[in-house]
Amino acid sequence: MSRSTCVPTSEPALVVAVDGPSGSGKSSVSRAVARRFGLRYLDTGAMYRALTWWCLEQGVDLTDPAAVVDAMDAMPLEMGTDPAAPSVRVGSVDVGQAIRQTRVSEQVSAVATNLQVRARMRDLQRRLIHEASEGIVAEGRDITTVVAPDADVRVLLTATELTRLQRRALELHGHAEESAVAATRDQVVRRDRDDSTVSQFVTAADGVRTIDSSSMTFEQVVDALTELVGSRTGRVPRAGSA
Ligand code: C5P
Repeated sequence: MSRSTCVPTSEPALVVAVDGPSGSGKSSVSRAVARRFGLRYLDTGAMYRALTWWCLEQGVDLTDPAAVVDAMDAMPLEMGTDPAAPSVRVGSVDVGQAIRQTRVSEQVSAVATNLQVRARMRDLQRRLIHEASEGIVAEGRDITTVVAPDADVRVLLTATELTRLQRRALELHGHAEESAVAATRDQVVRRDRDDSTVSQFVTAADGVRTIDSSSMTFEQVVDALTELVGSRTGRVPRAGSA
């Protein structure tokens, strides 16, 4: 191939990294922003959830770190990164619903605090980000700091604990009354406490912009991130994008 054919004719792939605690809204906001800019979307939390699901299905003891690493090496994980229809498959099984089960949410931190698992996930996530030639919005707990610290735009999406509890309760129980909020506490507060022993997503690292969504509507948060991506990169959202 001659040199001239290797010269890129399109814009370089844009990488947007979004981190945040549970209930911060990072998944839905990241998806919406990816659609606006015609980027792919990577839900890294879904990868940890898929591994947890796989271990539970295979009867792997989550307290045995080496066994979990072996399970990860054997897991045929396929991440679909279309923001209009993101998917998670393990072999021929679509696990999109199964990985949201309470048993997975309750146990995922045991998998995510396994440092060998994290190193493998980091490499896999970097590969997926690299493969997205259109660019990508990747979200999770350590994307701005570990997986893609060189991303074009890095954001920490936060909200007060009560706001996050209420949002998750609404999602899981259909209302945010006191009983639902109490039932959700373990999945939000305890999980974030465990997760924060291995990742920094409570305060923004240097160069990472914080967006506090506590008193913002979903659309306002999407607009704020869209504006930030536009101002940092000069990219323009697609006409008519939601
Ligand atoms: O974002 P979501 O709540 O689906 O993430 C599920 C879990 O995956 C988190 O509680 C955390 O244990 C783990 N995770 C992680 N690092 C990431 C993304 C998620 O440890 N980058």
